[in-house]
Amino acid sequence: MIVEIDNVFKYYNKIPAINGVSLNIEKSERVVVLGPSGCGKTTLLRIIAGFIQPDEGKVTIDGLVVAMTGRCLVEPESRKIGMVFQDIALWPHMSVYGNLEFGLRAKNISREKRNRLIDEMLEKVQMTHFKDASPGDLSGGQQQRIALARALIMQPRILLMDEPLSNLDLDLNLLLRKEILRMQEDLGITMLYVTHDREEAFSLAMRVVLMGHGRIQKIGNADEVSKYLLDLSM
Ligand code: ADP
Repeated sequence: MIVEIDNVFKYYNKIPAINGVSLNIEKSERVVVLGPSGCGKTTLLRIIAGFIQPDEGKVTIDGLVVAMTGRCLVEPESRKIGMVFQDIALWPHMSVYGNLEFGLRAKNISREKRNRLIDEMLEKVQMTHFKDASPGDLSGGQQQRIALARALIMQPRILLMDEPLSNLDLDLNLLLRKEILRMQEDLGITMLYVTHDREEAFSLAMRVVLMGHGRIQKIGNADEVSKYLLDLSM
């Protein structure tokens, strides 16, 4: 088990944004958190990443407690977590190469190895020809591929994705979904993906976590959660 979220609460102005959530994520699992806007998805993701601390409860990654009752025990940058958001935020003044190189430099990886890793990663996201392009010259979908590559090149233990495809048109959304699935399977990376879109959730998840009002309402595969939602609406 790679991530354990144990009875976590997070309050804003005494109102719970996360209201007693417990969830375990296995290595190489693809879990999608599905729920309407405001139900606590982003807060949960940011608690795992370490940018927000749980007021109560505990978060464990790879057997190490990283946060507990208001305290951060392992800083975000030491958690080996990759993140991709809806707002892509590539560094605009750097080329594609520069964007991918930045984190590797910080890890003191040699120039030769950086080059090799970047070439391999650009091939994986089918962006080899855009190595020297600047982010402003890329389409939304291409930028999102580079954002994904930038997260993956750091070899995170877990990839957190917050509505990464919401700003894209449907064709591109479908295409990138396929690519995310392919890469997750190829690399065996553990992925936690957040969306409000049922269809997106069902097509990507091994396990869907349905959230509402800061709580988990149902956990199951796409068929089980879809049946649950259908029963609810009857
Ligand atoms: P989601 O990602 O599902 O849209 P969020 O996790 O962003 O939901 O928000 C959950 C709830 O917590 C919402 O009611 C939101 O208004 C509230 N919230 C989130 N961040 C803050 C904050 N920094 N200050 C006050 N309230 C917040």
